[in-house]
Amino acid sequence: MGYTTSNGRYRDGLSGKVKVIQCIQAKGPINRSAIAAAVQLSIPAVMNITDELLRRGVIIAVGKHGSGVGKHPEMYAMCGDHFRCIGVDIGRTMERIVITGLDGSVLIQDEFPTEFVTQPRRFVDRLCEIICHTVESAAVDPSTIVGVCVAMPGLIEVDTGRVVFSPNFGWKDIPMQQWLEETLPYQVIVENANRAQAFWEIRPGRGNDQLTVFCAGLGFGIGAALIRQGVVYYGASGTSGEFGHVTVCPGEGERQCTCGNTGCLEAVASGAALAAQGRELAESGHAAMLYKLCNGKIDQIDARLVFDAAKRGDADCALLVENAAKYIGIALASAINMLDPDEIYLCGGLMKNGDEFFERIKYHTRKRQMQFAGRHVVICASIQDDWHVAKGATLMILDKGYKFQALSFLY
Ligand SMILES: [Zn+2]
Repeated sequence: MGYTTSNGRYRDGLSGKVKVIQCIQAKGPINRSAIAAAVQLSIPAVMNITDELLRRGVIIAVGKHGSGVGKHPEMYAMCGDHFRCIGVDIGRTMERIVITGLDGSVLIQDEFPTEFVTQPRRFVDRLCEIICHTVESAAVDPSTIVGVCVAMPGLIEVDTGRVVFSPNFGWKDIPMQQWLEETLPYQVIVENANRAQAFWEIRPGRGNDQLTVFCAGLGFGIGAALIRQGVVYYGASGTSGEFGHVTVCPGEGERQCTCGNTGCLEAVASGAALAAQGRELAESGHAAMLYKLCNGKIDQIDARLVFDAAKRGDADCALLVENAAKYIGIALASAINMLDPDEIYLCGGLMKNGDEFFERIKYHTRKRQMQFAGRHVVICASIQDDWHVAKGATLMILDKGYKFQALSFLY
């Protein structure tokens, strides 16, 4: 990640101090010579940096450890309570908020149903109340808060935090960061939720931060993020990762997508699409098991109910699920052919519906993938945890530390 230094100069790559912090996050407790070897800096340079990080309260010395005879070196670990980060995951049904330390420790996590989607200004006002309420509940000293990273679906102009277009929310050109910063006493960045999820997948200690990782979010909507050697690939206009809006189903009867196009992956294989197709089936007298499961309340059919009906032998719903797996596989095969990533993580609500769905996605991906292309790629189902996007958002705060006053000493 490049950054602008305090004298306004653009530098490429992470600063030495951030590299040392990330090393201690991943490997701590760790001594100075091991840090120097890991981040490829000289031992005197690492000594200068660790001295400053100690003074600033970013790290702590945890004593001298080692085996064998001789002098044992001082070990360093992250300090959890000096700098706090707030991560917010804005989902279509729930909003989740976490407050963490730079050591990744979670101080508080809380969730709220998503409301006022059709009134963006009111939505943001309520979000401010939620953030302030959570800080109060956690009894956090507000002066320790570095800032807030809000992660949501859609095209985000990351420099200004404007939501350019979020089909799932029906929003266009919403100055999210500006509105939040007008009310909150904290600096705010706004990011795409799939990028936050991807940051969680390469979190400190995983050992995959030097790989090329493609992370696809399969939920109410569909999106993706590409990270290479710890750096998000944004693209020329910052819109990379619109995996849900690749055309997979052109031709007769193609479905309208929320983006305005037709036949997109999101229009046929997302949670919203499965729910809509399930409702259509039930309305037309098909999918008898689905109709039974919703107790005749067709408007309450969601993707989970479609999966449940399929598992209980509803052939119509089983076909919907199989088609979703097929279209996701088609799109993933294209992603593999083009990008040849090391790892693919499949995340999001659809992945909560059992191993069989994951196996069918892999089957269709392999079937469509060009022979010999992407032959080293590992496709993984992300561990299901509703808090990963919010936690990933807190990790993005250090990655974009150059944007936050409280971390300006790192640059
Ligand atoms: Zn679309």
